[in-house]
Amino acid sequence: MTSCPICKNPMKKDLKEYEPGVFVKVDVCPKCGDEWVDKKGYQTIYNLFNRKTFNAGGSIAVRIPKEIVDALRIKEGQKVSFSVEKKKVIINIV
Ligand SMILES: [Zn+2]
Repeated sequence: MTSCPICKNPMKKDLKEYEPGVFVKVDVCPKCGDEWVDKKGYQTIYNLFNRKTFNAGGSIAVRIPKEIVDALRIKEGQKVSFSVEKKKVIINIV
């Protein structure tokens, strides 16, 4: 069992809904409420939000992470629209 780095209390395992439908294992301190994500959890979050673009028939494409596809129940052939906000590209499910 891990102990809280702040108050040394034993940590409890918990699941945190990081994004709607996306759960990550965390260690929570029942005393001070501090939350720690383990390496695997951190990797899950990192994988969730980081993708590389690739060439698909002359267009630049990007894969939507499975966690997001599952959480939003996106199907192949789903219609989407884009909006651009400063350096952000927002994909809206139509
Ligand atoms: Zn603590």
